[in-house]
Amino acid sequence: MPLSSPTFLLQAILCIYFVLIPTFAKLQRFQHQPKHDGSLSFLVIGDWGRQGLYNQSLVATQMGIMGEKLNIDFVISTGDNFYDDGIKGVNDPIFQQSFSNIYTAKSLQKQWYSILGNHDYRGDTIAQVNPLLRKIDRRWFCMRAFTLNTGIAEFFFIDTTPFISDYFNQYEHTYDWRDVSPRSSYLSNILKDFEEALKKSSATWKIVVGHHAIRSISHHGDSIELIENLVPILKANGVDMYLNGHDHCLQHISSKDSPLVYITSGAGSKAWRGDIKENNFEEVKFFYDGQGFMSVQITVTETEFAFFDVFGDNIHHSRLQKTLHSSA
Ligand SMILES: [Zn+2]
Repeated sequence: MPLSSPTFLLQAILCIYFVLIPTFAKLQRFQHQPKHDGSLSFLVIGDWGRQGLYNQSLVATQMGIMGEKLNIDFVISTGDNFYDDGIKGVNDPIFQQSFSNIYTAKSLQKQWYSILGNHDYRGDTIAQVNPLLRKIDRRWFCMRAFTLNTGIAEFFFIDTTPFISDYFNQYEHTYDWRDVSPRSSYLSNILKDFEEALKKSSATWKIVVGHHAIRSISHHGDSIELIENLVPILKANGVDMYLNGHDHCLQHISSKDSPLVYITSGAGSKAWRGDIKENNFEEVKFFYDGQGFMSVQITVTETEFAFFDVFGDNIHHSRLQKTLHSSA
């Protein structure tokens, strides 16, 4: 291929762009235009990439139908995008087998804003966040951490896997910590940048997206590391919603002392039926241990979210209202 060919130049630009970003750069900020009336609608899915198995395809079909109905602006993936061990490189066919070939509905041909989960860290993380993947499927947008401003709402995507001590204390699996080491500097920098970005935000709605649950009554339970490190920042900066995957269920948990709600959408394929922890259920507004996904519709005064199962049935919905600061 001649060095001056457009493809080569694009690849070179992408590579330089990627390499030049220092590991501890400030959070990169991206924009996504809302609808003409300023409102926004999107779907949230997590823990999905299994080449269509474990009902991944059925969930994808229902997402396509709901995406059409709501005229969605984009899709958010809460991580664990490719099972069991992420992707092996930018040319790993699993990327197309589990993503491009599954989410084929017209309404899903939008940007997918994604973060990494712990299973993605078991593969080549640098490949999964490599912009070259967008040449294979232009919808793919995955970074360790970034912010997305839509005007009405700002989204803060945070890389939670390096926060969880268990992954550093067990030898059952190998994790790709390149670009994350040394861990202590990575975590303190990401927290500082994240807090700074939240403080600067003037969006009406602030939504944080991470892979691991802060609050959960499913298999993994609460994440102590995130309760200690993230929750004070979320509460101090008026975050409305924390969205996560990791536990293979759909759940809605409220807070006692703030309007912050904790939402799990991690039911994109294999679900963990019956795996419920004994816990304080007082703040649990909804829990479903089957497969499904979530929709969110945002206006200036209201955020409405809903969960759907593999049949497309609406199994739970709730509203957050700005003026009242309460959830129904
Ligand atoms: Zn996970």
